[in-house]
Amino acid sequence: MHEMTYIVPICNTAIDQAKKNKAKSITALHIEIGEMTAVIPSIFRSYFGEASKNTILEHAELKLKMIPVKANCLKCSHTFKPEKKNDYRCPNCRSKQSKIIEGREVILKSIEIEESS
Ligand SMILES: [Zn+2]
Repeated sequence: MHEMTYIVPICNTAIDQAKKNKAKSITALHIEIGEMTAVIPSIFRSYFGEASKNTILEHAELKLKMIPVKANCLKCSHTFKPEKKNDYRCPNCRSKQSKIIEGREVILKSIEIEESS
């Protein structure tokens, strides 16, 4: 169910942007899904269908892109793909102090709109 907590703000942002651009409808949404969010694309799509009903988003196509998790080591600045089995350790210096820099959010990258004539 946590997919909905990402979808609602994304829908609101998309509708706001479309209004600012005087769009008739939104034809596509480009969304990046970080792997760490554990969002499942098929569930995301089906909740989106519900959330977008009777809005200008209703017929928008969802273009989803999965973003792998990336971490940055605070000790040696090495960027790596953390793995749970390694306990998120830096493969370079074995430090446990790393920061996730990518893959923990759902981001609305851009929208495609149809302008009203
Ligand atoms: Zn390191």
